[in-house]
Amino acid sequence: MPRYEPWFFRSLLSIDVQDMFDDPMKICPTIPEARAACLAARGGHKRLGLVPTMGALHEGHLSLVRAAKAQCDAVAVSIFVNPTQFGPTEDLSRYPRPFDRDCALLKEEGIEILFAPPVEEIYPRSNDAVTWVHVDGLSEKLDGRSRPGHFRGVTTIVSKLFHIIEPDAAYFGQKDAAQLAVIRRMVRDLNFSVEIVACPIVREPDGLAMSSRNAYLNREERGRALVLQRSLQEARKRFEGGEKSAARLIAAAKEVITCEPQVRLDYFEIVDPDTLEPVGRISQRSLVAVAAYVGTTRLIDNLVLDF
Ligand code: AMP
Repeated sequence: MPRYEPWFFRSLLSIDVQDMFDDPMKICPTIPEARAACLAARGGHKRLGLVPTMGALHEGHLSLVRAAKAQCDAVAVSIFVNPTQFGPTEDLSRYPRPFDRDCALLKEEGIEILFAPPVEEIYPRSNDAVTWVHVDGLSEKLDGRSRPGHFRGVTTIVSKLFHIIEPDAAYFGQKDAAQLAVIRRMVRDLNFSVEIVACPIVREPDGLAMSSRNAYLNREERGRALVLQRSLQEARKRFEGGEKSAARLIAAAKEVITCEPQVRLDYFEIVDPDTLEPVGRISQRSLVAVAAYVGTTRLIDNLVLDF
């Protein structure tokens, strides 16, 4: 008997309640239910959008939902804390799972379909054989270097979601810029028939990029976390002042990070946004990306230098 979490049974119950009261958001805990709901929503030639998430929704996620609602006839959101993208010492077990709150937020946004499967629905235990989707090369860059196996987990779950939901368009945040590059490459190489739409980073009023992991920060850490944004802004300021050497921009930005001795830098890089290869002189659109540990919480942020 697979281990189902309490919300799974609640969601089964809510399906009946939903049908009774004609609730417009279908909560689908199983793949067949999600497939049936997507088929019905797609109807004749309707455009179906997908917003993949791990839940603990915030305004960043909701901005993707709103973009999808604006551009599609029907929208499916997935909530799945994907174990295969977490390393053995990472925060899988303590990752926030406020399922009822997430449901309420998505209902408010007028979402038609919520796919929220238990882990066993996505990764049934069978034998030792396993199929991975892996974007060789790109998956080892930026976050992939610090989190071995992370992008393999991401591309595997995103491929599964694409096969289950069969969306016309899928919405991802520029916040996870390396993830976006890896997914775009996967879609191109495996000929997925889905448009990948990137949405801008949504920030707190003081500039901190919104993230479900911000909830881990205590008050002092929350203040220190702003150094990521400050380091990016330093790089931008110097670039706009005429500095085109990536090495010098990186050095200046790292200097800013050292002003917060309690923040441990993971990487600060300037790369091509598609290949994630480091750039030397900035002569084309470039991604400036930072990752750092604030206490035990790993945060990421980025900006794009454009021409
Ligand atoms: P997650 O639940 O962290 O896997 O994120 C789900 C999606 O939301 C991903 O495509 C993220 O890039 C996107 N996202 C997360 N935070 C933000 C943000 N602050 N602004 C825009 N998109 C975001």
